[in-house]
Amino acid sequence: MRLQVRDLCVILGSVVVLLFFAIGEDTERHYCTSCGLLRLSEFRTWLGFTGPKSTRYRETEYHRLLRSTGQIECNHQWTAFYWSHHRAHSGERHIPFILQDGGSFEFLLKRLARLEDLDNLFAILQSIDLQDVIDENRRYTYPAFEKLENISGRVEEQEWWKENCHLFEGRLPRNKTMKRTTSP
Ligand SMILES: [Zn+2]
Repeated sequence: MRLQVRDLCVILGSVVVLLFFAIGEDTERHYCTSCGLLRLSEFRTWLGFTGPKSTRYRETEYHRLLRSTGQIECNHQWTAFYWSHHRAHSGERHIPFILQDGGSFEFLLKRLARLEDLDNLFAILQSIDLQDVIDENRRYTYPAFEKLENISGRVEEQEWWKENCHLFEGRLPRNKTMKRTTSP
């Protein structure tokens, strides 16, 4: 039996379609439960095999604020996360809301940038447990964050801290791996 040109075209077309569906792209997403840095590793998949990974890091508002308090030493503790339920892999958890772009959490973190006392800022950030999927801390600290809007100088900041520091004390997450080594 001889294959005709038309049959060959059908076979070749099928192979191309199969290859098209066999090749994919995927991303492994992790965040550090200490400093809030994101690690994204992109790679191609082919028939279930994975190709070389290209890794990049992305800052969150939390990480940016933390860096502003000085030099940070972090033995990153990575946890796999997903952005949306539709693209979740097994073993991944939802990214803590406080690390997401935009929305009220980023808005609240930006208010913290008003603080001039970097020791206070570091203490407040460390009181936020990044292992919380739903940020329980928000419930306790939201009124304090709201009042930050009225701060316009060091005196007001000291008054604000005196009034609200109890909200942030004793809330350090266990197994913290981060140190603040020097002032900027
Ligand atoms: Zn880290």
